[in-house]
Amino acid sequence: MAADATTAAHAAEDEARHRATRRATVIGAVVNVVLAAVKLVAGLLGHSAALVADAVHSLSDLASDAVVLYASREGSRAADAEHPYGHARIETVATVAVGGLLIGVAAGILWDAAERLLDPQRLLRPGALALAAAALSVIAKEALYQYTVLVARRVQSDLLRANAWHHRSDAVSSVVVLLGIGGVMLGIESLDAVAAVAVALMIAKVGWELAAGGVRELIDTGLEPERVREIRRVILGTDGVRTLHMLRTRRMGPHALVDVHILVDPRVSVSEGHQIGETVRARLMEALPEVRDVTVHVDPEDDTGGNPSEGLPLRGEVLARLERRWRHIPEAARIEEVTLHYLEGRIHVDVVLPLAAAADPEATARALREAAAGLTEIGEVRVHFR
Ligand SMILES: [Zn+2]
Ligand SMILES: [Zn+2]
Ligand SMILES: [Zn+2]
Repeated sequence: MAADATTAAHAAEDEARHRATRRATVIGAVVNVVLAAVKLVAGLLGHSAALVADAVHSLSDLASDAVVLYASREGSRAADAEHPYGHARIETVATVAVGGLLIGVAAGILWDAAERLLDPQRLLRPGALALAAAALSVIAKEALYQYTVLVARRVQSDLLRANAWHHRSDAVSSVVVLLGIGGVMLGIESLDAVAAVAVALMIAKVGWELAAGGVRELIDTGLEPERVREIRRVILGTDGVRTLHMLRTRRMGPHALVDVHILVDPRVSVSEGHQIGETVRARLMEALPEVRDVTVHVDPEDDTGGNPSEGLPLRGEVLARLERRWRHIPEAARIEEVTLHYLEGRIHVDVVLPLAAAADPEATARALREAAAGLTEIGEVRVHFR
């Protein structure tokens, strides 16, 4: 029930996040459409390679916005049979794709600008029209940055924050174009092409950062060291947890996933061990909101070097072997409970008998212990009467 409520809260939170992301992205897209058209026309009519580069930049931003829009809708869909871990990684793959696209666009602009710089005959001579379009672009992009970063902060979306910084880098890009065009108008003829190169490098840098961040997530890079330290602290602060090992973390879209082995008192019951594990899970998800799922493996002893109990038989086989050994002890037929502890490579046995079953409890206990001693896989045998 509690788990269902948590799931429902997560779903509502995802939905609100998705809506806000969508609105900010649509507004960014509309501004980009207008700017791309204005700069392309002004760049062609006004003879500015830098402005055309900036227009192409805005066009590639449109493509990236479309991908973000698609990814945020797909990524916030709940887990299903085919995608049991949810769809958050779609957002990641889309981020990598957008990064690759930007790098490609940058290469195209660089090529064109390099050709013009090597052949000064082909340098363009922009004028006031191009200058005005560049100025408009600077203002619009900076406004877009301010708005988007506000929304990103509110919904805590890394993708949207990346988008906001992209808008700002776009504003800087248009400032460079403005300087390039102004430079040519003042008589420095190569400045327009130089500005185009600068714009291309900026596009490439943003593309590289998007792609690299996404790839880091896709190859399951762990969380930052300070987050991992915080996770350790929360786990070790849980009553019943002695130590931990194999703590592994990774990201999935906006979420973090954790799996860990905890060491508990080796003789507690399965239900107590489970309760400790569930508490670790609940505490982690409460302390670190980004943690969306925790898998806890409960260990009775350190198994980092392999399972010490590997190959030991299970209950049915153990009981059969013990019964053969205990056949000659009449009290053995009255055994009510047998608890097996798999520790240090052997099976330790707790046996419970009714007090009325044995005339001499001590002699019965000794007989059971001695008969079991012939089995090498059996460790300590403890006999309890009640
Ligand atoms: Zn851009
Ligand atoms: Zn284990
Ligand atoms: Zn372990």
